[in-house]
Amino acid sequence: MAYQSTNPYDGKVLQTFEQISDAQLEEKLTQAASCFESDWRHKSFAERAAVLARAATLLRERAQSFAELVTLEMGKLIAQSLGEVALSAAILDYYAENAERFLAPEKLSTPRGEALVESSPIGVLFGVEPWNYPYYQIARFAAPNLMAGNVVMVKHASSVPQCAQAFERLMIDAGAPAGAYTNLFISKEQVARVIDDTRIRAVALTGSEAAGAVVAARAGQNLKKTTMELGGSDAFIVLDDADLDKAVKSAVSGRMGNSGQACTASKRIIVVDSLADRFLEKFQAALENFQPGDPMDKQTTLAPLSSVDALKNLLGQVEGAVAGGARVLTGGGRIEGQAGAFMQPTILTDIDKSNPAYMQEFFGPVALFFRVADEDAAVALANDSPFGLGGSVFTQDIERGKRLARRIDTGMVFINSGASSSPELPFGGVKNSGYGRELSGAGIQEFVNKKLIRVS
Ligand code: NAP
Repeated sequence: MAYQSTNPYDGKVLQTFEQISDAQLEEKLTQAASCFESDWRHKSFAERAAVLARAATLLRERAQSFAELVTLEMGKLIAQSLGEVALSAAILDYYAENAERFLAPEKLSTPRGEALVESSPIGVLFGVEPWNYPYYQIARFAAPNLMAGNVVMVKHASSVPQCAQAFERLMIDAGAPAGAYTNLFISKEQVARVIDDTRIRAVALTGSEAAGAVVAARAGQNLKKTTMELGGSDAFIVLDDADLDKAVKSAVSGRMGNSGQACTASKRIIVVDSLADRFLEKFQAALENFQPGDPMDKQTTLAPLSSVDALKNLLGQVEGAVAGGARVLTGGGRIEGQAGAFMQPTILTDIDKSNPAYMQEFFGPVALFFRVADEDAAVALANDSPFGLGGSVFTQDIERGKRLARRIDTGMVFINSGASSSPELPFGGVKNSGYGRELSGAGIQEFVNKKLIRVS
């Protein structure tokens, strides 16, 4: 597992990083544990908040260089990289401002004496994070947990090592003591060793189902709590009374944002019959309008996928879908004449239940299009998935939208928009999309000890 930056736009290797040795890993674990015990857990909320708020300020001041690293390492359009930097700063600020309130002691009403529930930190946490939003994913994990008084160690995806280092440097520049935030360039074997280590108290992973299953199993053997933020295949439901233009616009950004490489991307577009033809015509026209180019150039609208391997995977899935009877309405192949990992924006139709695509997550600009008779059929199709992350419903009748939202088996439903993330909104799923929540008040409660103090 080499840690290597490769620019997905031109395939050039930018930098390679050595994995650390077992002895270096031991030093880092010792440092993190000692930072927790002798320093960070004893700091006041105000002291911790000062570090996080400073990190947010530095991120904003250095937004351009932070954003350029994302674009260089995983190919995101520069405007979207800047958006990610701004969101990450907002998450740091949000917890700096609200953590003390979220974790305030709770006085219980009890027939006699006194009972209090206090939230105390549990120790060193380990996070395994993906490349698709290299700072946002880390901020979601680190900000609430640092504010709760835990310290964090992060194994980032091996394709974004410069972003991983930049975030660690940011925390140090912001005044975090050594060991409060530690980046780890480690192998999968070392990941297992870290999970086994008694100094690690809990584990969070964002990534694929496969990685989640391995890491959660290892943590389970050690009786350590985990949160799992895994894949998704969100349904984007358009009802007969929807604002068609708004729905098309949202479906385009929902499917195409981050070149389709988002867990909550609008992957299954489900439209009722009465609107299906008109929707599809506009949706196809919009997808065919994307222009590939250098993601660093503000004029470019279509960025490459994160790697040639990711492209090959996606092309293989499209091939499998077609072999299973799907029709390619537009796209379906690699964009030729580009050195980078560019995939044509693609729409697949005629996907029946026996098609492998029906149950798969397509991590790139490939929309699965379904037409259904009515809203009941839309809900049934939405729920006929191993995943349960997010979803969208388009209707001009908000109460109808809410009723439908309650019937969808996911952790999040968005009415009249694609999925979005904001510091104050809980993020997470059910079924194979994982468990636990990040962000909001819920996200800071996952790894604290809710300690009862009873006075008789
Ligand atoms: P991935 O392969 O699972 O990688 C995620 C992280 O897990 C990386 O740091 C990776 O390290 C590590 N990893 C992979 N296999 C491992 C193993 N056996 N043991 C220990 N660590 C392991 O995920 P991906 O395919 O790059 O990312 C896309 C997936 O993540 C999609 O399914 C997407 O939907 C999901 N995702 C979910 C959310 C959410 O919040 N629910 C957000 C974003 C992405 P290496 O890079 O070194 O392999």
